[in-house]
Amino acid sequence: MKIKVITLGCKLNFAESSAIMQRLVSEGHTRVKAGEQADIVIVNTCTVTDTADHKDRQAIHRVRREHPNAKIIVTGCYAALLKLKQERGEALSCADTTILDEIDILQPKDLVNFVNAYSRYDRTRCFLKVQDGCNYFCTYCTIPFARGRSRNPFIKDIVAQAEQALADGAKEIILTGVNIGDFGHSTGESFFDLLKALDSIEANFRIRISSCEPNLLSDDIIDFVAHSRHFAPHFHIPLQSGSNEVLRIMHRRYTRELFAERVQHIKAVMPNAFIGVDCMVGVRGETEEFWNDYLQFISQLPVSQLHVFTYSERANTKMLDMDLYIVPKAERERRSKILHQISDEKLAAFYAKHKGSQATVLWESKKTGNQMSGFTENYIKIYGPYDKEKINTFEHVTINV
Ligand code: SF4
Repeated sequence: MKIKVITLGCKLNFAESSAIMQRLVSEGHTRVKAGEQADIVIVNTCTVTDTADHKDRQAIHRVRREHPNAKIIVTGCYAALLKLKQERGEALSCADTTILDEIDILQPKDLVNFVNAYSRYDRTRCFLKVQDGCNYFCTYCTIPFARGRSRNPFIKDIVAQAEQALADGAKEIILTGVNIGDFGHSTGESFFDLLKALDSIEANFRIRISSCEPNLLSDDIIDFVAHSRHFAPHFHIPLQSGSNEVLRIMHRRYTRELFAERVQHIKAVMPNAFIGVDCMVGVRGETEEFWNDYLQFISQLPVSQLHVFTYSERANTKMLDMDLYIVPKAERERRSKILHQISDEKLAAFYAKHKGSQATVLWESKKTGNQMSGFTENYIKIYGPYDKEKINTFEHVTINV
């Protein structure tokens, strides 16, 4: 069979799609070539927002047009929730019903067992799945329903996969999961122990922690990263709101003061660290007063970039049952634009601050015109003249962007 896999959403989905393809190829199937008709198309979906659902549906309709005779298998978080709604006999939207008519098989996720996965599409970087699911049930989020409870494999199994990825040629490993700081919940180990075990691997490579809840990113972990052999000074921390009242409504497990302490600690021990921050806007309860509070907090926070998400109502979440102020949709978009603007300014300032300093870039394979690019350890994108020999190698450079 000729197989095509389409991936939407996060790094975790990329790791899982790659694992699906690896398994099918090992069973004798082939990856479809550009312009060929596929026999089976697997669409690995996301459901984090309304926009994500919309993109899933667009992708499925496109597959039907481009591969009219293919069997379409929809998997991932959107599929899991659609299946759940079907099983519960809940009313489905017209758009969801159309999707169910379009596909032959809908394959929900395994919500109980841990399914190992790491990406192999790209030799340079490997997305390594270390954890799945979440027990937090923040009031706006459907991911625990789509991915089940927090679970993980044993550290020794992850180290073995990391070693295999390095043997296959990867030079950078990105630890992915839904709530990776919660690692160890199902095995009696800890995230800190996982980091120590990965750091003891003897090879020339680096590791990034994709995202970690601020309450789980302890000072011990931050200090360890600062003195580690392989961990890059790069953090991605979900803030979601800069108002303590809104954080409480969201059932987040920290205050903005704790978040600011984490950022200050990172900056104290790794002044060059890149810090990306997830920010949500327009959630229920985000009144004008709380929004202004949020804005003031985020503006002065010394972070490098914001990843902005506009809130959309998600079925079966607690927030829908709470009696809260509802931010009009146009106002949600206005707030999103403001945070995007602040993010652009922070990123430009971060780049400007590092101009002229020394760093190590890992060159990637993509060719743009006669240029190639790669990222430094602190996530600054560097461009240089294309040189095939440099792909997947480290080079010391002077930052000049
Ligand atoms: S921590 Fe909260 S927002 Fe993140 S996946 Fe878990 S429930 Fe969702």
